[in-house]
Amino acid sequence: MKKKIIAAVVCAAVVICGVALVNKKEYSRTEYMLNTVITITANDKDAVAECFNEIRRIENLLSAYLPNSEVSAINSAPYGTPVKVSEETFALIKKAEEYRVLTDGAFDITIKPVADLWDVSGEGYVPTDDELNEKLSLVAPIILDEENLTVTLPIDGMAIDLGGIAKGYAGDRIREILASHGVKSAIADLGGNIVTVGKNRNKPWKIGIQDPSAPRGTVCAYIDIEDKFVVTSGGYERYFEKDGQTYHHIFDPTTGRNPENNVLSVTVVSDDCTLADALSTACFVAGKDKALELAEKCGVEIVVCTTDGIFSTNNINIHTEEK
Ligand code: ADP
Ligand code: MG
Repeated sequence: MKKKIIAAVVCAAVVICGVALVNKKEYSRTEYMLNTVITITANDKDAVAECFNEIRRIENLLSAYLPNSEVSAINSAPYGTPVKVSEETFALIKKAEEYRVLTDGAFDITIKPVADLWDVSGEGYVPTDDELNEKLSLVAPIILDEENLTVTLPIDGMAIDLGGIAKGYAGDRIREILASHGVKSAIADLGGNIVTVGKNRNKPWKIGIQDPSAPRGTVCAYIDIEDKFVVTSGGYERYFEKDGQTYHHIFDPTTGRNPENNVLSVTVVSDDCTLADALSTACFVAGKDKALELAEKCGVEIVVCTTDGIFSTNNINIHTEEK
């Protein structure tokens, strides 16, 4: 059995152009957190340090892979048992549930048993139909009790994974922290979730979207933005190969398999990083036409790279030249 695991140690969903540290006061720091490489560049070292402390705190709260997180407490409780969580965790899980409804089920945090079966970040495994159907029965509604701040997983074996939304949540928090320090210009890359603050030396930030079919660093389109989040989901970063077929880490909750459509990546531009993160995953699952509809409905701009070319919503300024 021949398998190739590409650990997404360096995430290249986007290329950030022109972040040369020309200004001596500009400071850049990179850490591995939230299962990805995170770089924050700003002219305030203390603000950057606070951002990383916050990301670590979020990881400790929300990671399904850290045994002491609140998400692990939910996943390890006997089924049917209400688990009390913090207001913060409850609010994010509630949002995830709202996004499930908003996306007609394309975004679903109860995908975890299915994702674990495929084990994309580990050995990689192609399950049988029976194995898949068994896990698909665990992709089901969770029970939220707002008054008591409890989360209940009603079926034995159910589990949640906030991997499709946690980096977005962290992005929103980073923007808040940078603003609280009075930072006027900054950029952060959380494994393909980009936070921009202000301008890049009096010009908009230029973000290059990775060409999903070309070697890393090859840009298929540029977006110029200020004070927005740019979030990309693609199937070309975390995957394994078996018998000439590649399998990646985003699953259609109705089939338990990678979505069967022509979408290679989805980039969402929004003022809300949590929403953008959930939508980039959901739009990747939903396919190009539904993705464009969903973007319109949610008031965000998107760029969809497909095997038939690049499509985008009307109000986004994309160009193919590095001007
Ligand atoms: P990345 O984390 O690589 O930026 P995404 O934001 O698209 O990519 O999230 C993918 C992660 O979300 C997967 O690793 C998995 O944990 C989870 N996931 C996969 N499919 C779905 C889905 N349909 N809905 C919600 N979460 C998903
Ligand atoms: Mg996502």
